[in-house]
Amino acid sequence: QQKRRLIRERIRDFPDFPSPGIIFRDISPMLKDPVAFKTAIDLLESYIKASHQDIDYIAGLDSRGFLFGPVLAQRLGVGFLLVRKKGKLPGSTESVSYALEYGKAELEVQKDAVKPGQKVIIVDDLLATGGTMRAACELMTKLQADILDCLVLIELTFLKGVEALKPFP
Ligand code: 5GP
Repeated sequence: QQKRRLIRERIRDFPDFPSPGIIFRDISPMLKDPVAFKTAIDLLESYIKASHQDIDYIAGLDSRGFLFGPVLAQRLGVGFLLVRKKGKLPGSTESVSYALEYGKAELEVQKDAVKPGQKVIIVDDLLATGGTMRAACELMTKLQADILDCLVLIELTFLKGVEALKPFP
């Protein structure tokens, strides 16, 4: 509880960003505080270690999932996969388009990122409507990956993003 409180205290709200009516949760103060940042990674790591044994990859979502995914992958001794916004990845890709809390977007992954049956945990900073995480799950499903879990540091529970993720763990 104390650890969670430390993290919560380092997340600030910006009303009307990036558009009117949206309250943006800014994680910058948490990233700037080495203790809070480490605590966030510790909590995610201990959750994963308690819940899963065989993991092949941590997949991080563009772009704030890249702040947590690689560190977690290193701590767990597994590889890291990039799930990127459209047009950033070379070679042959799979893509899924989705609705954002504000706007529309498309996520991509390289077709050879995962082999069928490989076990993946998807990581992002925040779950809002769940559209982004769901698109990532759909991408991993296209590659026939075995999705073990979807992890975020912050859940905006009032947006009920978990409902969009019902078909996935
Ligand atoms: P969703 O697709 O669940 O509606 O939105 C989640 C995605 O948008 C995540 O990739 C997240 O980084 C970004 N996002 C949406 N709202 C916020 C916010 O208030 N704070 C931060 N840090 N990210 C947000």
